[in-house]
Amino acid sequence: MTDVITVPVVPRVPVRGGGEFPVHRIYCVGRNYAEHAAEMGHDARESPFFFMKPADAVLPVRTGQTGAMDYPTLTSDLHHEVELVVAIGDAAAGNGRDVAEEDAPRLIFGYAIGLDMTRRDLQAAAKKAGRPWSIAKGFDQSAPIGEIHRIEETGELGAGAITLDVDGTPRQRGDLSDLIWNVRETISWLSRAWTLKPGDLIFTGTPAGVAAVGRGQTLTGRIAGLGELVVALR
Ligand code: MN
Repeated sequence: MTDVITVPVVPRVPVRGGGEFPVHRIYCVGRNYAEHAAEMGHDARESPFFFMKPADAVLPVRTGQTGAMDYPTLTSDLHHEVELVVAIGDAAAGNGRDVAEEDAPRLIFGYAIGLDMTRRDLQAAAKKAGRPWSIAKGFDQSAPIGEIHRIEETGELGAGAITLDVDGTPRQRGDLSDLIWNVRETISWLSRAWTLKPGDLIFTGTPAGVAAVGRGQTLTGRIAGLGELVVALR
């Protein structure tokens, strides 16, 4: 059969040391650090919940470079959320459903630093009206992401600092060990709701300190063992 339109480009994220990771889906975990849940007005340890961004929301940024993100339309309250991103590899092929926690690490190709950029004003309006979050979370360039580090290089990440600075001023400070639902649990939960597949990215949630950023400001996200992700808003 002949395609009747030009085949859409598959979004890709560079891998440290060479190669590119084609993106299939982007899953995101909501409120996965207690202090952030509290700052958003919620108690800790509810069941994990998920939302998604389109695969082409990624804004890949290579180490040593500064990514350029356009300030999005329709908002005057754009927030940063620095997050550990888990990249699902080929081991998930035919094997991404009902994954047991102990088997979850086998599905991990690697890790990256990501930013779950959020139109907070639109999210607040959606929450109030009981509407979906898509317009608040899934807009173009809403998922800046650094190079993916292979798990063979990093080992399984379970602890370590996760931080975000804006123009050199500390904003978010946390530790991966403070995740309410750790990566193994998150993969297991997700795989009961959707079949995980090679190319999936999981944004695992953000620590406390989310706040607004504006044009001309530079965001620097860091996670121990993953270097840094630098993005400038224009
Ligand atoms: Mn988030």
